Amino acid sequence: AGVGELTLVDDDEVETSNLQRQVLHTESSVGLNKGVSAKLTLTALNSDANINLIQQRLSDADLSEQVNQHDIVIDCSDNIETRNQLNRMCIKQQKPLVSGAAIRMEGQLSSFLPSANNPCYECLSTMFTEQSLTCVEAGVMSPVVGIVGAMQALECVKILTHFGKPLTNKLMMFDGKSMEWQTYIIPKNNSCSACSML
Ligand SMILES: [Zn+2]
Repeated sequence: AGVGELTLVDDDEVETSNLQRQVLHTESSVGLNKGVSAKLTLTALNSDANINLIQQRLSDADLSEQVNQHDIVIDCSDNIETRNQLNRMCIKQQKPLVSGAAIRMEGQLSSFLPSANNPCYECLSTMFTEQSLTCVEAGVMSPVVGIVGAMQALECVKILTHFGKPLTNKLMMFDGKSMEWQTYIIPKNNSCSACSML
């Protein structure tokens, strides 16, 4: 969409069980690092795109440095530790964070712009109790992942170009059973350990 440069951070390897929902990967990339496989696919789509790879999990210091060097962060991770770490580093570096998740037949989406008045991801995540469940444990209907991923990409392009109205302070939830979207206001938690100091 004209973004031109992406940095992919992933220490995981492609498995056959990923292929129905993680559409950047193919049977021939099983066993490869997911970043390496994604770069192959993205470069085949557009050889002018500049794709940087980091094939390991990053410490707070290294992640903070990476976030500082980028305009926006998209969270496509599958665990609460990484989500909270990305949230803290985006607050520290004052960078927008586009968060998405999918499990079973449900998807959720939100964008966070760090400020004294806006809630952060941790303001939201502390309200959920099932946060430790992963797709592997609970399962996910594969198209739901693509629906949420495409919405994250749309939010990213909007925020980068200052076009339209980003989904800040709001949570969009998709229910694939009824095909309904619902939007909720996310209240700022004034005692949030991540953002209350802003
Ligand atoms: Zn917060």
